[in-house]
Amino acid sequence: MNISKNSVVSFHYKLTDNEGTVLDSSEGRDALTYLQGSQMIVPGLEAQMEGKSTGAKFIAVVTPEDGYGVVEPQLIQRVPKDRFGDQQIETGMQFQAGEHSVVTVREVTQEDVVVDGNHPLAGVTLNFDVEVTGVREATPDELAHGHVHGEGGHHH
Ligand code: ZN
Repeated sequence: MNISKNSVVSFHYKLTDNEGTVLDSSEGRDALTYLQGSQMIVPGLEAQMEGKSTGAKFIAVVTPEDGYGVVEPQLIQRVPKDRFGDQQIETGMQFQAGEHSVVTVREVTQEDVVVDGNHPLAGVTLNFDVEVTGVREATPDELAHGHVHGEGGHHH
């Protein structure tokens, strides 16, 4: 069957930026399984999954707008160093800020720390090398919950 809204899709992927640096990959892991239309994967990839079937191999190029967003300058902030207490702060460190967001330390000066609340992949064009390994219809329970159950999904 072809992928359409409410398909349960399993796929392997390798994600690279435009320089060819591997940012993420499912290699050596189970295929990623998601519910088409649930926005569990970035919108640009979900859109390009539409209509594909098991065995499909393709490259999906996703712009930042359809990926992890563009860089928003107002999310880059300078905060006083003493806000971090005794903790040793270094460029590149990441902190959890709330449930879903991560801030990255961009710069450390004598007085303060520049933190960036943009997604680490904001502003990056994403090149997904995709292989679809399974497509099935979602069960009524899965549709009611809005996520996949069983292999690669929720167990509850
Ligand atoms: Zn559930």
